[in-house]
Amino acid sequence: MRASKFFMPTLKENPSEAETPSHIFLLRAGYIRMLAAGIYEYLPLGFRVLKKIENIIRKNMDEAGALELLLPILTPASLWKETGRWDVYGKELFRLKDRNDRDFALGPTHEETITDLVRKTIKSYKDLPYNFYQIQTKFRDEARPRYGLIRGREFIMKDAYSFDISEEEAIKSYEIMKETYHKIFKQLGLDYLMVEADVGAIGGKYSHEFVVKAANGEANIVYCENCGYAANVEAAKFHNAKLPPEEELPIEEVYTPNIKSVEEVAKFLNLPEQKIVKTLIYKLDNQDFVAILIRGDREINETKVANYFKVLDVSLASSEDLEKLGLVEGFVGPININLPIYADKSVEELKNFVVGANKKDYHFKNVNIPRDFQVEGFYDFATAKENDPCPVCKSPLKATRGLEVGHIFLLGTKYSDAMKATFIDKDGKEKPIVMGCYGIGVSRLIAAIVEQSHDENGIIWPEEVAPFDIHILILNTKDEESLKAGEEIYNNLKSIGYDVLLDDRDISAGMKFKDADLIGIPYRIVIGKKLKDGFVEIEKRDKSLKQEIKIEDIQKFFK
Ligand code: ATP
Ligand code: MG
Ligand code: MG
Ligand code: MG
Repeated sequence: MRASKFFMPTLKENPSEAETPSHIFLLRAGYIRMLAAGIYEYLPLGFRVLKKIENIIRKNMDEAGALELLLPILTPASLWKETGRWDVYGKELFRLKDRNDRDFALGPTHEETITDLVRKTIKSYKDLPYNFYQIQTKFRDEARPRYGLIRGREFIMKDAYSFDISEEEAIKSYEIMKETYHKIFKQLGLDYLMVEADVGAIGGKYSHEFVVKAANGEANIVYCENCGYAANVEAAKFHNAKLPPEEELPIEEVYTPNIKSVEEVAKFLNLPEQKIVKTLIYKLDNQDFVAILIRGDREINETKVANYFKVLDVSLASSEDLEKLGLVEGFVGPININLPIYADKSVEELKNFVVGANKKDYHFKNVNIPRDFQVEGFYDFATAKENDPCPVCKSPLKATRGLEVGHIFLLGTKYSDAMKATFIDKDGKEKPIVMGCYGIGVSRLIAAIVEQSHDENGIIWPEEVAPFDIHILILNTKDEESLKAGEEIYNNLKSIGYDVLLDDRDISAGMKFKDADLIGIPYRIVIGKKLKDGFVEIEKRDKSLKQEIKIEDIQKFFK
């Protein structure tokens, strides 16, 4: 590509609206422009980076056996109403009406849409498993769109959805995606952490975020360099809580709510029904018990209060019990007691609630923490900080801020139950399909990479995602010899497969250097005064290399 024919409108000054390095440099170097708050245009440079990132993701998803498709952005409200998310989603959902006054939403995510496709096509266990993905524009009317591509209202996501015949198989699909995400983020050259997310939500094992370390990130992460433990501070408030031995339990009152229906449960808990993942009414020794799993939706996590999984009352002691009730152990976590967790309260404030005892048939009410529970290994991540002991191995923790670039989630049957996406199993019974979903913030990744890889002069692209591989600067375009040499090197490098940008513009050498630093292409070849002796300069943007090289040796250097 010849810069004289290319479109890269660089800016000399820092744009006043930009605060973070990625926002500043992506604007200044001509990768993006803003159309309206949280809505960006990808200029040719930005588009090239976007495609490179997409292709790394695509290649790894394909290798993992996922099938690419493309779902509509415009989705009918009827689907959202089936799962209750038309109401639950709130203002973040972009809503609109067609000419006949029918409601639609611009997809912020696509669980409903894909589940509708699957329920219409999948009939038997023989038709499963599947993992479908798409790379597509998403819409969320974020309360605070900011930092450029980091939090947009229109942004690009890779979203995948797996469909399996059982929890066990779904976990396998989940694990494959987890491995695939590691491959993707490594290939993107990122310094990232996989963190426990929504630990309460699905037992820690079943939801993970991939977080890029970045000073401007909105996620607070603690991690242990010794054992690899890492958690999102907000999501991991109650990790490892443990009951004291039964004989030491100081609470005497036993309480059994006698509730028979989801509606009653919802009323009892004073919660909208949609928040109840699973309600199980069961009988033990002729008594009715209720096990209730409640959580905030993935999408309303931001609302804080809904950020935590709330288990009011589970008194299941053994994994056998769990199995009997169709739950896997992961659903109630590694501990056999589940505390109601309220996001805005610290542990000292938790008062007068009901918990299941670590024993069949027993429940305790008026439980206060820490009065009634010793919580060995308990860790309040809401106040987690550097050097606190790791909850797993006790080594001092590190703390960092991070950008969430990926999120994987075992959904279970939440959507398939609500939308009746079922299949006929081997035993002839009709069962709900077990789902997982897996997101990557593709456009946010552009910014995340820049947050991690820049200096005071501009971007330093990792080779895998750079818009071009090599940047040739002809310092004096009035000099015929320089022009000729530039053209020759350019054509040679292109012929051996490199993406090359040739700066043949009639502007000062100083401006060319400034732009090259801003744009951040990994290799630079400078055609200057030494040309008369047959030499040009070759250097790397990250400053790890700077040397003179004979023109005839260039091809060998890059081979
Ligand atoms: P966040 O916590 O940053 O609001 P989220 O948890 O709401 O993100 P998910 O629903 O998990 O997001 O979506 C999958 C991925 O999409 C996220 O991990 C993130 O990388 C990306 N993403 C989410 N919201 C935005 C946004 N407004 N702009 C750009 N990327 C986003
Ligand atoms: Mg969000
Ligand atoms: Mg999040
Ligand atoms: Mg998320």
